[in-house]
Amino acid sequence: MTILVTGGAGFIGSNFVLDWFEGSTEPVVNLDKLTYAGNLQNLAALEGNPNHHFVQGDFGDAALVAQLLAQYQPRAIVNFAAESHVDRSIHGPADFIHTNIVGTFNLLECVRSYWGAMDATGKEAFRFLHVSTDEVYGSLAKDDPAFTEHHRYEPNSPYSASKAASDHLVRAYHHTYGLPVLTTNCSNNYGPFHFPEKLIPLMIVNAQAGKPLPVYGDGQQIRDWLYVKDHCSAIRRVLQAGTVGEVYNVGGWNEKPNLEIVHTVCALLDELKPRADGKPYQEQITYVTDRPGHDRRYAIDARKLEQELGWKPAETFETGIRKTVQWYLDNPEWVRNVQSGGYRDWIGKQYGEH
Ligand code: NAD
Repeated sequence: MTILVTGGAGFIGSNFVLDWFEGSTEPVVNLDKLTYAGNLQNLAALEGNPNHHFVQGDFGDAALVAQLLAQYQPRAIVNFAAESHVDRSIHGPADFIHTNIVGTFNLLECVRSYWGAMDATGKEAFRFLHVSTDEVYGSLAKDDPAFTEHHRYEPNSPYSASKAASDHLVRAYHHTYGLPVLTTNCSNNYGPFHFPEKLIPLMIVNAQAGKPLPVYGDGQQIRDWLYVKDHCSAIRRVLQAGTVGEVYNVGGWNEKPNLEIVHTVCALLDELKPRADGKPYQEQITYVTDRPGHDRRYAIDARKLEQELGWKPAETFETGIRKTVQWYLDNPEWVRNVQSGGYRDWIGKQYGEH
């Protein structure tokens, strides 16, 4: 048996593949285009593992996907591949439409034809798991209840709109063609191999480099945070026991304002690697113009996954964030290698530095 993972060289996908081989020898075909966000160094620990088959390519390339499906005959597909950064989607939405909507559509078409040709037993056992985000639900007011799986889709950024469209396509392929799909909508992840354009790694990396720690607006935007390995265990659990056609919200019950996250990172750095001048890292915090259309609050109600499938996160925010900061301190070479010229230009554009 084999599974096909798309986007398995990105942040969550690579954590998922690494985790997979901690508990299984079932082969993984890892299809990733290696955009700026894909990084084979994330998978260095799998070098020489005969069960990991990495293929550089586009998940929307019908001929390639059809060939991989015919060659490896996977029993399941886990679809991580996407353009994932909200700020990039504001500056240039086209790639998000192309990858997240058209790419997912092309993949679904290939999978529909592959699945359609299976015998009854194969059809019954097959799963297509689509990895999505809580951002499709839009923004909550301070006292609103957390998003359940029944919350209306109200995406507010080109990124979340493109993910919402892909979720709808996945749903439609189940209702129209009977494709055995599962969808997970997860809150913000953090942990090892997170590209340093995102809040937590950006703060760790900038703090270390003596650079400003840019906080959008008043920093009071609330997000729910989940350690990436807990997201991976949730995906494995849904793949194993989820009910076909169902949606599962994944979250850590860790709602925190962005500013609090930045203060927590600074305090951990003060403890683990104090500044040479002995001053606190929080002196580097600077407030920058808020992102247009910035959602105020996301919160995930993960009770369905917990109660129906018995999933529980292993980390609290306190244990997970400590591991994360320590990982970045222990892996300066990984950080250096992802900070190409292109990365530096982008970060300047994102925060209006020139
Ligand atoms: P990421 O940007 O780190 O990784 C995306 C990966 O997809 C990269 O390796 C990239 O090379 C690959 N990719 C992009 N376009 C491709 C294409 N056309 N064909 C093949 N591969 C392609 O993203 P991530 O943070 O790991 O997110 C993975 C998935 O999880 C995404 O679908 C995202 O929407 C979802 N998600 C992310 C979060 C989060 O907090 N990061 C939370 C919930 C859901």
